Amino acid sequence: MAHNFKTDLTVDWCPGCGDFGILTSIQQSMAELNLDPLGVVMVSGIGCSGKTPHYINVGGVHTLHGRAIPFATGVKLSNPNLKVLVTGGDGDLMGIGAGHLVAEGRRNTGLTIMIYDNEVYGLTKGQAAPTMPLGEKTKSLARPNIFTRLNPISLALSAGYSFVARGFSFDMKQLKEIIKKAMNHPGSAVIDILQPCPTYNNINSMEWYKERVYKMEDEKDWNPVVTKENIKDADQIFARSMARAQEWGDRIPTGIFYQNTAIESFPVRISKNVPNYLQIVPAEQRISTADGY
Ligand code: SF4
Repeated sequence: MAHNFKTDLTVDWCPGCGDFGILTSIQQSMAELNLDPLGVVMVSGIGCSGKTPHYINVGGVHTLHGRAIPFATGVKLSNPNLKVLVTGGDGDLMGIGAGHLVAEGRRNTGLTIMIYDNEVYGLTKGQAAPTMPLGEKTKSLARPNIFTRLNPISLALSAGYSFVARGFSFDMKQLKEIIKKAMNHPGSAVIDILQPCPTYNNINSMEWYKERVYKMEDEKDWNPVVTKENIKDADQIFARSMARAQEWGDRIPTGIFYQNTAIESFPVRISKNVPNYLQIVPAEQRISTADGY
């Protein structure tokens, strides 16, 4: 019987939370890819999203606020055959963890990073998160937000991620397909997931998004994929993706913004350039800190 990747824990997010759609999309994508639960590790930080690994029956680590990416990088480098996923909120990954998010784009280690983007710090009563636009005032704020908005898509593109996409938690069919493609992508992927938080964000609701989201894959001439065959067009494809990433407001694009299958991942790069880097060193050959390191 196919594995359904569910655990028997009670899922305790608020009623109507977009997190439920993300959880189901991840479980279905793992089931449809027929993954071995022992070959998958999920790493999370702190926030409502941080509970996701508790609810998915694969290897899981719930680690520190903002530190899920370096933890996941260590897991992936210790065993590049594992599929390693990161779940975090916009506060976790684009606030305290923003430096790690940028560094991982340059490394291209092969992580699938999902940003639960609801514009607020839901676990701590709805303070403004880095993706909230300047001047927005949700019901959880005493005054309008005084900071400008970070754009997760253009940040991920600038950082060098080789797979960048956006999904919507109430369109599980599309989100599941994006997650499957991201997990099969040989490099690191960022998926910005529009995730309504009805408890603290009364502006960006499910209805608000449904009126605005559209799918880029419905456009006949939208091809965001760089391959070895069309590598000469890589700059043009990247520029087009970056331009589309700026669209926000009345119309919000979803789907894959950019995918580069021609770039080598970090494990491939270092195994070519630094032989044996990824091999386990026998205990007797290890250098201990007592030797001065
Ligand atoms: Fe979801 Fe918001 Fe509740 Fe957190 S606080 S579980 S993000 S609805």
